Amino acid sequence: MPATTCIACGTGEFGITRLDDTHQSLRTCKHCGTSETCPKPDPANLEAHYSENYYGTDNVKFVPIVEAFVGWMNRKRAARVHTLVAGRTRILEVGCGRGLLLHQLAQLGHDCHGTERSALAARRASQTQGLHIYTQPLEECPFDGHSFDAAILWHVLEHLDDPQKTLALIARLLKPKGVVYLEVPNLASLQSRTSGKNWFHLDPEHHLYHFSPVGLHRLLETSGFQIEQRSTLSLEQGPYGVLQSWLNAIGREKGTLYRILKRESFPGLMATFREFAMAAGLVLPALLFALMEAAIGRGGVLRVVARPSAR
Ligand SMILES: [Zn+2]
Repeated sequence: MPATTCIACGTGEFGITRLDDTHQSLRTCKHCGTSETCPKPDPANLEAHYSENYYGTDNVKFVPIVEAFVGWMNRKRAARVHTLVAGRTRILEVGCGRGLLLHQLAQLGHDCHGTERSALAARRASQTQGLHIYTQPLEECPFDGHSFDAAILWHVLEHLDDPQKTLALIARLLKPKGVVYLEVPNLASLQSRTSGKNWFHLDPEHHLYHFSPVGLHRLLETSGFQIEQRSTLSLEQGPYGVLQSWLNAIGREKGTLYRILKRESFPGLMATFREFAMAAGLVLPALLFALMEAAIGRGGVLRVVARPSAR
């Protein structure tokens, strides 16, 4: 059963949007725009999803060129986190997946701890030197209060059963001058509003919640944080989000190109050629669209730097 009040702003007035091809709906708060997937994905199905198909075989998720791009983005993200903290620090990543970002941060000399609900991904990440990975829920991890300098949640908050509870716990685990660095898909982005149920980052099979700028702001505030910086531009998520949403609208089946790039399925030579041909024609307009929407503050993601509110 969904909560009777909005998880972000606590009010209780909602609008319902049906997602006709999934038997699911979005229940959206009329005050702050935070949405909840109803009914929520079955936890048993979620566990099955966060398996080899989600994280890839041999700790490799995508085809080589995309894997190289993801690696480069993780190095850039680690450098950014490094500038947000002073010196060599203790860092927590909630939902660290394959541990690529933590690995980069460990290389920069930080003491890196991660949580990951997929035992498979956690096992692979813990094989990387210098990482401490925990598979239990965050509240059951052996962490002392005020012991971390930074916490990272990268496309994780939307997957959690109780984002408010997790954020409030993180506020207690962070040192008073600690920092939380997070990113989620932006439900109020132009790519979301113009693509509707074809929006690539909507993903109701995995995403329990969907955030607007106002809703995320309220959620962080009620969890004990003050936002310091925000942005809606992501070169990793924005342009591909537009491209795959457009392909979803004109193609026969949603997410075909993504599944090819993830090495999850191969629809045959002709279908693959057709998919890449359509993508080639759309890639430049998609890039321009993503840059334009971010320039007016309505890009595909909500990226936030926040610090614990003064107590
Ligand atoms: Zn709300």
